[in-house]
Amino acid sequence: MTTLVHYRIEDGLALIGLARPPVNALGQPLRAAILDACERAAADASVQAIILFGEHGLFCAGADISEFGTDASFAAPDLPGLLLRLTELGKPLIAAIGTLALGGGLELALACGYRISEPTARLGLPEINLGLLPGAGGTQRLPRLIGVAPALDMMISGQPIGAGRALELGLLDRLAGSIESLLDDARAFARELLAQGAPARRASRLDNPGESVATDFFSQFRAANEPRWKSRLAPRLVLAAVEAACNLPLNEGLAREGALFKEAEASAQSAALRHVFFAEREAGRIPGVGNDTPLRGIDKVAVIGAGTMGGGIAMNFVNAGIPVALLELKSESLDRGLANIRKNYEISVKRGKLTAEQLEQRMELLFGTVDYDDLADADLVIEAVFEKLEIKQQVFRTLDQVCKPGAILASNTSSLDVDVIAATTSRPQDVIGLHFFSPANVMRLLEVVRGKATAPDVLATTMKIAKRIGKLPVISGVCFGFIGNRMLEPYNREAHRLVLEGATPAQVDAVLTSIDMNMGVLSMIDLAGVDVNFLVREANRAATEHDPSYHIVGNELYKLGRFGQKTGRGFYLYEGRERKEDPEVPALAERIAAELGVARRESISPQEIHDRCLFMLINEGIQLLDEGIALRASDVDLVWINGYGFPAHLGGPMHYAEQLGLDKVLAGIRHYRQELGAYGEMWFQPAPLLERLVAAGQTRIEKV
Ligand code: NAD
Repeated sequence: MTTLVHYRIEDGLALIGLARPPVNALGQPLRAAILDACERAAADASVQAIILFGEHGLFCAGADISEFGTDASFAAPDLPGLLLRLTELGKPLIAAIGTLALGGGLELALACGYRISEPTARLGLPEINLGLLPGAGGTQRLPRLIGVAPALDMMISGQPIGAGRALELGLLDRLAGSIESLLDDARAFARELLAQGAPARRASRLDNPGESVATDFFSQFRAANEPRWKSRLAPRLVLAAVEAACNLPLNEGLAREGALFKEAEASAQSAALRHVFFAEREAGRIPGVGNDTPLRGIDKVAVIGAGTMGGGIAMNFVNAGIPVALLELKSESLDRGLANIRKNYEISVKRGKLTAEQLEQRMELLFGTVDYDDLADADLVIEAVFEKLEIKQQVFRTLDQVCKPGAILASNTSSLDVDVIAATTSRPQDVIGLHFFSPANVMRLLEVVRGKATAPDVLATTMKIAKRIGKLPVISGVCFGFIGNRMLEPYNREAHRLVLEGATPAQVDAVLTSIDMNMGVLSMIDLAGVDVNFLVREANRAATEHDPSYHIVGNELYKLGRFGQKTGRGFYLYEGRERKEDPEVPALAERIAAELGVARRESISPQEIHDRCLFMLINEGIQLLDEGIALRASDVDLVWINGYGFPAHLGGPMHYAEQLGLDKVLAGIRHYRQELGAYGEMWFQPAPLLERLVAAGQTRIEKV
């Protein structure tokens, strides 16, 4: 017996403890060890019942993801085969679930005849997040145990449920008193079963799970959810598998599930989502910062500016139980900011996501002030005042005077030079950019901007605290707009220019949403504010002055006071939340095009819209990698997926480019460089790294 599994016999009970740290991932060696142990227990006449549990508490977090896409994932015993065998042992097999039973881990528990869990455990089938479906019987056994609707809910949402809910649903037979007593309670449960003469497994609660729902359930479910799924494959495969559970006997359903799983695993979408999974792990690695880099303690945070961003930023810390001092210039602005935060929490209370008591606890952690002296003991200060360099510099000069030595001083600037801000202090090593996205209490992305003087322990500490408040931190170097907003510029530029050349805003946006972008870029500008977009551009005007057509349509909309959704007009017209095309916008574009001598076309193909917007976005991302602003292509992907609504199932713009073919992307950029005359010459300059990669025949984007 290998040490991956601990095997012991106690008075007629075989105890099989899974012992593959950290999470008992079900790689081939552990699968083989479980099978051996179970066969041994089945063959031993002295064993009457078997308990399967996590030797170190945690039951099992699922498959071994590093096996995906390799032969090892199907190497014998494969998971479906192992689990099938467990259902045939002929003795009661009890899963004792501690901490987690996720994915293949929950399927393992489902293959056991009985399940007991400690009260804080979470159980779920998150395969969909990797573009997969449960492939080891989960889609067939779960609906038979708890019914179609709740089973689908677990599989389609990918969200784990708590042990209490699992008991209610019938997924668990009982709850243990605590994690400490789990094994004892499991032993007691086994003895009860033996005393009752219980069978190895109870008959399925629902032999025909289809009877748990109305006859038109699946067509209704599809109609209600397909728009949200867009072109995602995995939810459709999950649904097909659960339909099979309703229409086929178990053994045929299992075979159907196996075929659907293979289809999902081989799909480009699953490959993209697995890329994203590994990208998130990778994003934490920073050159010059190791596990041995010391961390600074963060017990108190201060936020300067209680506006849109400052309020949301403060909420993040308060939500994690960290007290925040919120500073404004005037008490009226402070009161307004605090009232906005309260309002936000009240919405959560109304939606049942927070109790009234929790609301008060969170507000108590917030301390409003107009006095910088109150910031003297803050460990981390985040500035979120107006986006004006002089104002920010003034704030940092003051912070330099009042903050204690070692305090981390961060700016939430969206585009200003963090090094210039740092230079106004006597401690540039303590200064860093923390670029939150709006709404800051919701959006997961955090660009961590490393200044040229930022100390390694400041970086390490901010990465740690970012994770503590539930963010996905991605490192960026200093440049205008950092990774995300700098890439937005050329993407945005092409969208504007296409409108000038004859496309309507709706045509541009439709092409972008056709690849499942959350929003078209012009709708996004209307949402964020045509004025906000204009002001960002103004700050960087010198870089674009040579092109009189640069964002000219947006500039004209700004002059007309068409600021987007908030004024009811921008690139579109708004009636409430409804967006409509506005003939005045093409008319405006036509007039400007005539003034500038830009030729307009009757129709611009979707392919051209796609290639011009997206290839320019991709090109800028590759350039950022070459400049060292982005550490890895996968970091660029994370920024665009989590900050700008790029579909995760396309893997982000860099992964998407690799799928399209780097040679095609380069050829497209060269094509428009020729095709678009002086404008093409000006902007369609391929990134040198892209040229080098294609010349070398490389298909992956990496720095060479
Ligand atoms: P905002 O206008 O909503 O809030 C700014 C707040 O700062 C106001 O309440 C103002 O009273 C206060 N303030 C101004 N000067 C101050 C000073 N000297 N001391 C203390 N308080 C002061 O602006 P916002 O949208 O929250 O943006 C704040 C920062 O966040 C900017 O740098 C912006 O570029 C950046 N940012 C904004 C977004 C966004 O989508 N709004 C996204 C990312 C980053």
